[in-house]
Amino acid sequence: MRYILHSDCNSFYASVECLYRPEIRNKPVAVSGNADDRHGIILTKNQIAKNFGVKTGEAIWQARQKCPELVTVPPNFPLYKRFSKMTREIYGEYSEKVEPFGLDEAWLDISGRDMNFQKAKAIAEEIRGRIKYELGITVSIGVSFNKIFAKLGSDYKKPDAVTVITDKNYKYIVWPLPVENLLFVGPATKKKLNNMGIYTIGNLANCPLDTLVSVFGKNGNLLNQFANGSDKASVAFSISHQDVKSIGNSTTTYRDLKTVEDIKIVAFVLSDSVARRLREQNLKAWVVGVSIRENNLNSFTRQRKLSIPTDITEEIAENAIDLFLKNKGETPLRSIGISLSELIPSDTPVQMSFFCNAKNNNRLHNLDCAVDSLKKRFGSYCVQPAVMLNDPRLSGFNPKDDHTIHPVGYFTKYI
Ligand SMILES: [Mg+2]
Repeated sequence: MRYILHSDCNSFYASVECLYRPEIRNKPVAVSGNADDRHGIILTKNQIAKNFGVKTGEAIWQARQKCPELVTVPPNFPLYKRFSKMTREIYGEYSEKVEPFGLDEAWLDISGRDMNFQKAKAIAEEIRGRIKYELGITVSIGVSFNKIFAKLGSDYKKPDAVTVITDKNYKYIVWPLPVENLLFVGPATKKKLNNMGIYTIGNLANCPLDTLVSVFGKNGNLLNQFANGSDKASVAFSISHQDVKSIGNSTTTYRDLKTVEDIKIVAFVLSDSVARRLREQNLKAWVVGVSIRENNLNSFTRQRKLSIPTDITEEIAENAIDLFLKNKGETPLRSIGISLSELIPSDTPVQMSFFCNAKNNNRLHNLDCAVDSLKKRFGSYCVQPAVMLNDPRLSGFNPKDDHTIHPVGYFTKYI
């Protein structure tokens, strides 16, 4: 049995603001996009504002109709980041597996030989108490045996609360909840489920797997697992994931890159190397970035967010090549680089998209893994796309092992 906590800071931005401004602590407060602008929107609000019906995402003028006394303050993200880091430091004392989810949420895996729900609850209560006492803000924590239920638990009762969802009680606690409360069930999926007569998580759990798979493909399996508490996704190690914010390689080639073909050759080698490093660390990337240095030393970077995170060499190469070709001018290139950022553990379920081709992605992933193991045994040059042979000297470098030229810091612009 795994024991996983999900901790969620209540009204995070507003709570931090109230901490620093005692004079507004007992008033309805909202942190908003632009307080002077009639069109600014509410980012978060405190409990008092919530009681007036103020909602996240609505316009300030709408909020004021319900709550004329509303105090709006502009966001101070550096301050929120500092608090976020302090919460993670506390979490880090209880587990080396702390996976942040945004600034104000995190999963902790506290599994261990002698762990049980009673002890897990005691740890959750201790963390809740410490954050309140040491940082002056409140959290709600869900304790469960998988990430999805832990997250539901932290939403179940707030603020300043702990909810335990065990393998014995989940049917009573989780199943009556609306299906869209499940993480990753977005509006499109909700609509489809509702059309099938599935309104609660219990409805979903009891829907035959075949039916779900026929409608959602592979994601049908995931939905079934989420609803039945058999979600297996692991909590990422905080140490490795805090350090690895991006994976990048770049190279200065022996001659300037002039043609599309030249760029493709080098882009393939670089994509292959960054994608292998990504797979080695069991990560996927949301963002593909490129850096371009022209032979007049003019340099710039471009990036693109993908519709689903990937660890597939071909997909990374295609996106990178596209970015190179769309952004390069007439000037020959001296050096190019590829970086991957917004990394997540590769088994993290992502918002389901009906547009992605899961089957083909799986096939490509398996192909990549097969090539990885060949390269491990026979060296980096044993399998190469045919395009590499056009100029072996251009492709004949192995950025993965020979030289990681630019450390993570090089790409910090992306972060
Ligand atoms: Mg929160």
